[in-house]
Amino acid sequence: MHEKTWASCLQFIKERIPGQSFQTWFLPIQPIKLENDVLTIQVPSQFFYEWLEENYVHLLRESIKSEIGDNGRLEYSVVVDRGDESAKPFTVNVSGAINSQNKNRVNGFDKYKNPQFIQELASDSNLNPTYLFDNFIEGDCNRLARSAGYAVANKPGVTSFNPLMIYGGVGLGKTHLVQAIGNEIKRNHTDKYVFYVASEKFTNQFIDALKNNNIQEFIAYYRNVDVLILDDVQFLKEKEKTQEIFFHIFNHLHQNGKQIIMTSDCAPKDLKGLQERLVSRFKWGLTTDLQQPDFETRMAIIKRKMQSDGIDIPDQVMEYLAYTIDTNIRELEGVVISLIGHASLTREEIDLELAKRVLKNIVTDIDSEVGIDYIQKTVSDYFSVNQDDLKAKTRKKEIVIARQVAMYFSKDYTNHSLKSIGYHFGGRDHSTVIHAVQSVNDMIDTNAKFRYSIDELKKKLKIRSL
Ligand code: ADP
Ligand code: MG
Repeated sequence: MHEKTWASCLQFIKERIPGQSFQTWFLPIQPIKLENDVLTIQVPSQFFYEWLEENYVHLLRESIKSEIGDNGRLEYSVVVDRGDESAKPFTVNVSGAINSQNKNRVNGFDKYKNPQFIQELASDSNLNPTYLFDNFIEGDCNRLARSAGYAVANKPGVTSFNPLMIYGGVGLGKTHLVQAIGNEIKRNHTDKYVFYVASEKFTNQFIDALKNNNIQEFIAYYRNVDVLILDDVQFLKEKEKTQEIFFHIFNHLHQNGKQIIMTSDCAPKDLKGLQERLVSRFKWGLTTDLQQPDFETRMAIIKRKMQSDGIDIPDQVMEYLAYTIDTNIRELEGVVISLIGHASLTREEIDLELAKRVLKNIVTDIDSEVGIDYIQKTVSDYFSVNQDDLKAKTRKKEIVIARQVAMYFSKDYTNHSLKSIGYHFGGRDHSTVIHAVQSVNDMIDTNAKFRYSIDELKKKLKIRSL
C-alpha cells in the first residue's frame, strides 16, 4: 500500500522538477509504511533530510495532499549507512539544527563566503600550470578521454559529461589530463572557481575539519566551487565518513550545474569499498579510460620532451626508448630525464650506447626490488601452493606449473643467471630453468587461460617494480 502511494507521489513530483533533481533527491527515498494517513519515508542521511525539508517541503506536501488527501502527513526515518552493517552509522550533522528555528544557519551555509577560511584551505586552484592540453599528446590510447575533457573545458557543467570520470593505470596521464581541463577552464572562464584536490588531501582536510569542529566551513567551501576536480577517488575506499561528505558535496554541486571531474585507478565497477550510491552517481556522466600508449604515441611524447628541453637526439635512440619502455608514460619520462641528465653531466653524445647503459641502470634498480623470493611468493600465492614446495622435489602437476612460472619470471625480472635461478629452486641445474621457460612460453601460446594468469601475475610483479 505505502509503496503504491509513494509511487504516485513520485509521479506527481517527477512532473514538476528537473530530471536530475528528481534522480538525486527522490529516487533514493524508500517508503516504509502508511498508517493513519501518515506516510513514513526513509532517507539516506540527516543531510538528505535537511535538504528535502529546505528545498522540497512544499512539493512533498502537495504530493501527499494530492495522493492521500488533506489529512495526509509525512514522516521521515533517517538512516545513514544503509546496507552496510559493518560500518558504524555516521550522521553528518551539517547544521546542528533541522528545524525552522535554526534555518538561517542552514541557509547561511550556501551563501557562505569567507575569504580568510578559503585562503586557509587553499590559496589557489591547486593547479599545476604546466599541465596543459598543448603538451598532452594525443593518441589512440587517450583520444576519447582527451576530447571529452576538451568539451568539458569549454562548457563546464553544461555538457552531459558531468561528472567526467577518467580512469586508468599508474602514470598514464590522468592527473595531467584533469589538470589540463582545469587550466583550460580558468583560461576561458575567468569567473569560474576551479579547484583541484587529491582524494587523499580531501580526506585529510575532512579529518582536520572534524577535529577542529569546522565541518560547516569545510562543506561550505566545497559547495562554493564551480569546478571540482577530485583526483584518485580510489583513495576514498573504506573511508565511510569521507565518502558520506563527498556524496553530499557531489549532490549539491551536480544539482547546481557545477562541473565535477574525477579520476580513479580502476573502472567504477571495480571500485570495491566505495558506497554503491556514490559509484552509481559516477556513472551519470561520462566514464572513459586512458590506456597504455602505443608505440607512435610514445615516440611523440619523447620527441616533445626533447624538443621542450632543446635537446636533439637521433631517431634511432628515440625508437629504442619508445620500443623498450612500454609500461607507462611516467616511466618513459623518467628514463628520458635520466638520459638527458647523464648526457649533460658527462658531456657525452646521446647515442644508442648511452641510452642502453642508462636504461640498464634503471632496469637494475627495478630488478633489485623484485627478487626471486618475491617472485616465488607472488606466484605461489597466485596458484595457491606452498612456497617451499617450489624448492622441493615434488612433481605434482600444479606445483610443477607454479615452479616453472616462477622460474620464468625470475629469468625475466631479475639479473640472476640460469644457474643461480636453478640454485634458488632447490638446487636444480640451469637446463631445468631453460626447460621451464620453454614450457611456459609454449603454454602461453596454446592456452588462453594460462596466458591470462601470466598477464595477471605480470601486473602484480610490475606494480611492485615501479
Ligand atoms: P597518472 O595521474 O595517471 O598516474 P600523470 O598524469 O601523473 O599520470 O602522468 C605521468 C607523467 O606522464 C606526467 O609527467 C605527464 O605529464 C606525462 N604524460 C602522461 N600522458 C601524457 C601525454 N598524453 N602526453 C604528454 N605527457 C603525458
Ligand atoms: Mg595521478
